[in-house]
Amino acid sequence: MKKVDLVVPCYNEEESIPLFYEEIKKIRKDIDALIEIIFVNDGSKDKSLEIMKELSKKDKLVKYISFSRNFGKEAAMLAGLEASTGDYVTIMDVDLQDPPSLLSEMIRLIEEEGYDIVGTRRVTRKGEPPIRSFFARRFYKIINRMSKVEMVDGARDYRLMTRQVVNSILELKEYNRYSKGLFSYVGFNTKWLEYENVQRVAGETKWSFWKLFIYAIEGIVAFTTVPLTLAAIIGIIFCLIAFVMIIFIIVKTLVYGDPTSGWPSMACIIFLVSGVQLLCVGVIGEYIAKMYLEVKNRPVYIIKESNVNKND
Ligand code: UDP
Ligand code: MG
Repeated sequence: MKKVDLVVPCYNEEESIPLFYEEIKKIRKDIDALIEIIFVNDGSKDKSLEIMKELSKKDKLVKYISFSRNFGKEAAMLAGLEASTGDYVTIMDVDLQDPPSLLSEMIRLIEEEGYDIVGTRRVTRKGEPPIRSFFARRFYKIINRMSKVEMVDGARDYRLMTRQVVNSILELKEYNRYSKGLFSYVGFNTKWLEYENVQRVAGETKWSFWKLFIYAIEGIVAFTTVPLTLAAIIGIIFCLIAFVMIIFIIVKTLVYGDPTSGWPSMACIIFLVSGVQLLCVGVIGEYIAKMYLEVKNRPVYIIKESNVNKND
């Protein structure tokens, strides 16, 4: 029988974990495959780990990995994928925002129609603050224009992948992991299932607007170097403008003499040009910072305890 691994990152989710488990128990009946749950406890400060341990005692197909502190969802996804042994693997949020009811259709599409990946995307962002939706949409527009790797608006990390796809993703060893990009970078035949946004069952979102903003910058830095080119182009444009201005001033001085005036405009220009310079240095700095982290080659996560044994 085929085995399907659900990788479930959890950060302070004591209320959602039991509800999630009940839902999975329900869908297990309709699916002709073993469904294994790999909970990744991302340094929760509540009872999440105890609940995972309880479940794993009752159910052989529940595994857990517990980090030594909060490393973020990206790290949790990586740990889960590395621990997975199933023929098919998917990431699933524990808050039931990734409808488990889609799973049987996802398995069918891979098995019968030969897709390698079945992804899900929400076509609405109902229930989300409007300002967040607005910036999310802008972000997808910008990154898709700048990067060759296509990022699908509304695509979730909830995607069923074959072993081959998972292995390809694990081949990408970078430290700054931006999974939305890595998933599409590896390619393969992808089918998208669409669904309406679902609210989380319990608890609250772990993503503030600021955290999402930083995450968006990470995505851009990880998947395109267009900002560096833009910095260079802005530099060229400023040089050209300066050149024209110099000629203009020389000619004007020769024709009309040189009465000293115009320092306010000079002050403005100095501000503008130094602002643009700082911006460009900042952009370059972002890339250097990422390189610095990459070069240090620290582990993406540290496991404190786990009951995953790759041989069973
Ligand atoms: N999560 C995590 N580590 C974090 C933040 C979130 O493992 O540092 C998990 C969280 O427990 C949930 C999933 O990632 O299962 C998605 O988080 P959330 O529902 O808060 O995000 P949203 O759906 O609001 O984008
Ligand atoms: Mg959620």
